[in-house]
Formats: sequence, C-alpha cells, structure tokens
Amino acid sequence: MEQQQKEKRICIICEKEKQEGYMILHSFICTECEQQLIQTEPADPHYQFYVKQLKKIEQVLLPESEVLKSQK
Ligand SMILES: [Zn+2]
Repeated sequence: MEQQQKEKRICIICEKEKQEGYMILHSFICTECEQQLIQTEPADPHYQFYVKQLKKIEQVLLPESEVLKSQK
C-alpha cells in the first residue's frame, strides 16, 4: 500500500490552497497574504480582517488590543 503524504497547505488568511508560503507555528500563510499583511496599515479596514484570521493561529503572535476584543 503506497501512501504518499501530500501536505496540504491551506492559507489561514485567504483559506485557499497555496504552494508558496510560510509556516507560522502550525499554520500556513501564503506569500500573497503575507505581503498584503505587511502592506496593510492598522487604519485599513482589511487590517482587522487579517488580525482576525491571524488570531486563529495563536495569541502569541498578536498582543491583545481593543480592536481584537471588539471583533467578537
Ligand atoms: Zn493566503
């Protein structure tokens, strides 16, 4: 029985399967999202979306903030 362990990389931000990206802790972030994340300013509405998605990884990456608390 041949079993090929094909690792599925689903970006936690765009939630799409991507080839290129980074593993952060146990989660995968694609290069596109990583770039967008870097370019997005906190004042940008998209920033909150990224923050919310990143919260799924682990809280260690992002400090608690009022923005995150009010997201719930
Ligand atoms: Zn992505």
